[in-house]
Amino acid sequence: MKLTAVILAGLTNLAVASDHRDLSGDVWASSLTKRQTSWAKRQTTWNPPSNLVKPLQEVWDHESSTYNNGNLLGFKNYGYDIIKASGGKLNFCVRWDSSATVTEAQRTAIASSLQKNVKKWTDNLTGFMGWPYDNIPVNVVGWAAKNTNLLQGSTSGIDVYTTTDSEGVAECDPRCGRIFHQDNNYGSCPGGADRHYDVSLWLTAGMDGGAGGDWGQRVGSEYFLSALDNPHIWLHEFGHTMGLDDFYDWTPTGQTNFIMLAGSSQVVTEFDIWMMRDFWRHVANR
Ligand SMILES: [Zn+2]
Repeated sequence: MKLTAVILAGLTNLAVASDHRDLSGDVWASSLTKRQTSWAKRQTTWNPPSNLVKPLQEVWDHESSTYNNGNLLGFKNYGYDIIKASGGKLNFCVRWDSSATVTEAQRTAIASSLQKNVKKWTDNLTGFMGWPYDNIPVNVVGWAAKNTNLLQGSTSGIDVYTTTDSEGVAECDPRCGRIFHQDNNYGSCPGGADRHYDVSLWLTAGMDGGAGGDWGQRVGSEYFLSALDNPHIWLHEFGHTMGLDDFYDWTPTGQTNFIMLAGSSQVVTEFDIWMMRDFWRHVANR
């Protein structure tokens, strides 16, 4: 994962972001491992299986030395920080980067998918080393589209934005977004703090690959709607939101199939989860 300086609505933010190779559809074409061996979901202490100890240390050492110019702990907008700042919730805003219409039923299904798939990561933090939440309520609070006519049916309960970014792509109002307000002050958001969003789900027509970081996750709109039950590219990109790295240039000892090794797994594996727990135990008390 790269830490990239990006210009967002006139603000310079240091954003965590995926490797550019995530964008290639070829990377994701052969995600063969669908089988998941059973493993203990709930852990309260640092107790990884013995065969994972060495590769986990390799991953942490690599992240520590490469993130944020060697100052990983100095970056304060990993997913754990975002969820804590939001009081244990996660609000999404969807950027509908498409000229296709999207029905109310599709929007409901997208929200349900996020609720279901965020848990594939965060439920494995429950009870672990001071993680303060048993359940992370996930809500879609807004949708951005170039034209409100693209959002068919009722839009009650969501904020509808026609804001665009500097490239002209639909974007939820920066005044309400965590990436723009890491001081947690949403005083300029028209709906106030209750209507803020923590991360974006950016759905782009025709996209085969993905991207992810502290700002959210980007995948294809057609892809996401066809993979609602287990959107494996999105699951990988959400791993970046939780601070995890890419593995295009090296692999940890003995690990060949896991969601953060793009294209090698359809599912979040025990190794992925222990990488997340390792990240949390290091950032928990900073
Ligand atoms: Zn990636």
